[in-house]
Amino acid sequence: MRVFTSGLQSETNTFAPWPTGERAFAEGGMRRGGDVLAGHASDHQTAQLWRDLCARDGHDFVAGLFAWAQPSGPIVQSVYEAMRDEILATLREQGPFDVVLLFLHGAMVSMGCDDCEADLVKRAREIVGSAATIGVELDPHCHLTQALVDVADAVVLMKQYPHDDYLERGEELYDICLAKARGEVRPTSALFDCRMVGFYPTTREPMASLVAGFRAAEQQPGVLSISFAHGFPWGDTPNTGSRVLAITDGDMALAAAVAQKIGREVYDAREALLPRFPSVEAALTEALETPGLVVLADTADNAGGGAPGDNTSLLKAMLDRGVTSAALGAIWDPIAALACAEAGVGATLQLRVGGKSGPASAQPLDVAATVRAIRERHSQAGLGTSRSAMGLSVWIEVAGIDVVLISIRTQVFSPDAFTGLGIDLSGKKIVAVKSSQHFQTGFAPVAAKTIQVATQGAIQMDFATLPYAKKTDLNYYPRVADPLA
Ligand SMILES: [Zn+2]
Repeated sequence: MRVFTSGLQSETNTFAPWPTGERAFAEGGMRRGGDVLAGHASDHQTAQLWRDLCARDGHDFVAGLFAWAQPSGPIVQSVYEAMRDEILATLREQGPFDVVLLFLHGAMVSMGCDDCEADLVKRAREIVGSAATIGVELDPHCHLTQALVDVADAVVLMKQYPHDDYLERGEELYDICLAKARGEVRPTSALFDCRMVGFYPTTREPMASLVAGFRAAEQQPGVLSISFAHGFPWGDTPNTGSRVLAITDGDMALAAAVAQKIGREVYDAREALLPRFPSVEAALTEALETPGLVVLADTADNAGGGAPGDNTSLLKAMLDRGVTSAALGAIWDPIAALACAEAGVGATLQLRVGGKSGPASAQPLDVAATVRAIRERHSQAGLGTSRSAMGLSVWIEVAGIDVVLISIRTQVFSPDAFTGLGIDLSGKKIVAVKSSQHFQTGFAPVAAKTIQVATQGAIQMDFATLPYAKKTDLNYYPRVADPLA
């Protein structure tokens, strides 16, 4: 068989003021052919997995474009169309293909399209025809639409948040699609709309047990795959929200029943699933009273959700409180990083830090900063075994707090965002990270406790009051107490 693979990903925050353009994809990663297979990002690793599985099974493997951008506002239409059309051109020119495997995000919105994934797959279907098999792997923070499910043969979402299982889900998708191409199964999909907007870390209850339930339900005869689309609250589309997808072998009634049963289980846990994070002041008090290293997560300024990453509120609160023996990162501030790099290690300078992107970034802080380390191309361990670039990065010390400034906008995944610059975390009391949930895997081994904090920033967790316009059906929890009644 002949297998085509490609990837196109960004999690569009439609409330973010800045568009996502060519530069964002160039910075995030745009690779083709052999370059894809040499990359270390999660999409490259998924391509490598599919290549290895094809080699094992004796299939021809072709990699098209793999592109990823750190989330911001809607994708510039011409940029989206150029990437989409490049993928389609490769599919057309190097075909015919029996199987198409796409590593997409599921929450990509361009200036002219609310459902880029369905648009891409629909056009791919027109090229490969109805006999070919199209499989799509998605991030759970997607707007899982009926349009996409209808045009693909199989859609599989990562189950874990942090998304450490992207390779396992990639293999699951490969297995389903190749079995379909061999005529061994007939993937049949049903969606259930939970009528919820939420945030569902799988590292704690009740979500951890619900995920275990999804896995158990997949063991039923005839069930091929179960996915829970968390949804992406900060992407305003007609289909924003949480859904369950069940895939069975040719049994629509079973797929619908399983999707409904699982969806109801999630729905019934909705009040317990609502995030209830402490305020900054309460979190600082708790951290200072807790023995050992406490990780504070600046949940509302997570670049991974489209926030700028330069909000200064948490740093200001720590300085006001006189916290020392602490580290905070990573503030996206290429201007300040450049000034520090110019001043050199050991220099102390008056520096205006953060607060530059807009009202959601709060005010810039004017501080006396001592430059402790400079790295031109800093990076950190990312999800799974991937790596995440941070660009020119600087360790500055501000009133006893070690602060990391970065030039490539990203959330913090791992301790080496700090230790890679020489910061010793072992004696620290508090490490504050700009991330909502993905930091958990990397920091679990070093943290006595992690606290997700209700910080100020661009991605607020008050889901009842998000200013939706395109999502016109507002009958969802928590805006409505019992929307399925
Ligand atoms: Zn995600």
